[in-house]
Amino acid sequence: MNPTGRFAPSPTGPLHLGNLRTALVAWLTARSQRGRFLLRFEDLDPRRSRRGYEADQIADLSALGIDWDGEPVHQSQRATLYDDALSRLRADGRVYPCFCTRAEVREAASAPHGKLPEGAYPGTCAQLSERESWRRVRTGERHALRLRAEGERIAWADRLLGERQGLVDDFVLMRSDGVYSYQLAVVVDDAAQGIGDVVRGADLADSTPRQVLLQRLLDLPTPSYAHVPLVLGPTGRRLAKRDDGALLTGGHGRPAETLSWLAHSIGLAHNCEAVDTATALLTEFALDLVPRHSVKLC
Ligand code: GLU
Repeated sequence: MNPTGRFAPSPTGPLHLGNLRTALVAWLTARSQRGRFLLRFEDLDPRRSRRGYEADQIADLSALGIDWDGEPVHQSQRATLYDDALSRLRADGRVYPCFCTRAEVREAASAPHGKLPEGAYPGTCAQLSERESWRRVRTGERHALRLRAEGERIAWADRLLGERQGLVDDFVLMRSDGVYSYQLAVVVDDAAQGIGDVVRGADLADSTPRQVLLQRLLDLPTPSYAHVPLVLGPTGRRLAKRDDGALLTGGHGRPAETLSWLAHSIGLAHNCEAVDTATALLTEFALDLVPRHSVKLC
């Protein structure tokens, strides 16, 4: 069966060049193998997600000639799937409530704690007895739900970054405001949508061990992963959605120019020829051509 790929933007701002570059690589990876390509809006956070941004993102992708199969999916409409996954983890004793405030989590995470990665949650609330913690939940105390990860180390062979591994901390499955976490939703959706090839930005590489652990705990298949190195701004800082100069509709202007720049940045269109539509890149594309290092805008 041909592989299914996806682009899964959060509609929290316009797409910057780095997002568009990732979308293009993901699309080329799927379509060059005659695979399906899906668009999924990761709009779980109601405070930050906007329908207007979705429309802009669709317009930008379309202007480059990036298309997708079927209607885009919205995570905000898939809560029952996430409920099921959470119930399964709960039944397996893998979920515990966490009463730490943000400041407490920050403080705990900044203290040295052995092998866990920097910024990881050291499992403070995992020490509470079951009785005590669920009693506090019943009294209405504000809490998030975390995965009992049991210090698992997960390795994977990334198609762009090579052999990688990481220790999984007790990450959040549901925030204290009842919003499901990206980690849980992405794992459930990639499996439910039959995604075989995940191609996304390298800023998400550190999330992969968490997601692979969840796939194992939920008996879901693990897709292949390719993390595309980032586009950095002129100062070497990561691009953010608010960076004006990095927008297709902003400083970089016309889609054909943007596409030519993007093509060049992923090892295609060497002679600086104009590229009008992403389809023109299909025959030349190979994931192996994508540089393993980040690119800087000048
Ligand atoms: N929604 C994430 C983002 O916009 C991407 C998630 C993913 O590709 O796994 O950065």
